[in-house]
Amino acid sequence: MSLAVKAVGIRKSFGSHEVLKGLDLEVAYGEVLCILGPSGSGKSTFLRCINHLETPNSGYVWVDGAIMGYELNRGALQELPIKRLRAQQSHLGIVFQHFNLFAHRTVLGNVIEGPMVVRGLRRAEAEARAMDLLEQVGMAGKALSYPSQLSGGQKQRVAIARSLAMEPRVMLFDEPTSALDPELVGEVLEVMRNLARGGTTMIVVTHEIGFAREVADRVVVMIDGEIRETGAPGQVLSNPDDPRVRTFLSRVL
Ligand code: ADP
Ligand code: MG
Repeated sequence: MSLAVKAVGIRKSFGSHEVLKGLDLEVAYGEVLCILGPSGSGKSTFLRCINHLETPNSGYVWVDGAIMGYELNRGALQELPIKRLRAQQSHLGIVFQHFNLFAHRTVLGNVIEGPMVVRGLRRAEAEARAMDLLEQVGMAGKALSYPSQLSGGQKQRVAIARSLAMEPRVMLFDEPTSALDPELVGEVLEVMRNLARGGTTMIVVTHEIGFAREVADRVVVMIDGEIRETGAPGQVLSNPDDPRVRTFLSRVL
């Protein structure tokens, strides 16, 4: 089986606080993996280690078969120069809790920025592709609006389109609906559900248990920097083996 993401032995400390205690993870192409777990368990740090926004203290991540942050040179691992790390990172789209759109650009301007600046696409082509993506997330009608004119759910849908514009191999989501008013959560989950159906490889940190149950191929539960449970959503959510996972789920279900 060819893997989109493989992480082995990921450890990360901040000072003396060990936040990730040796995590292993494999995600196949087309797979949707949901990561659940209490606040502070290290979920965001793990996503940030996967795309090397944080450098793990030990352990390695492969994306699309290439090792993140390093290259093999005559059998020895050498750190990649920053420019090549950035190129690797562009294979991973990431959508955060907060929308991080460029406030002074229109919706369309936000989506074409990466393809034009990083990929060197011509404006006409970047705009045509951006409009397709905005259509896909239901935001084509707002292409010329500014972020301040959008609701939180609309901003998040634009953020998803902006990530997709870079044609990532894998999409990472870090609690993409946690900052939204409850009535706006559904429209964002709907876009994510459609991406999943279309075969996008996704790693989704979420508290939306219903989404995990319905959309995930596999669910992982992290507690205190460790993966305590992994399996099919039905099994993990209904009948977890680990007592701490059971306690966590009984609080959120
Ligand atoms: P989660 O996303 O599961 O809520 P985080 O990965 O954000 O957890 O955080 C896990 C722990 O790591 C928390 O105790 C947090 O305070 C700590 N932490 C995260 N990022 C940093 C950082 N840059 N510096 C120091 N501590 C951090
Ligand atoms: Mg987090």
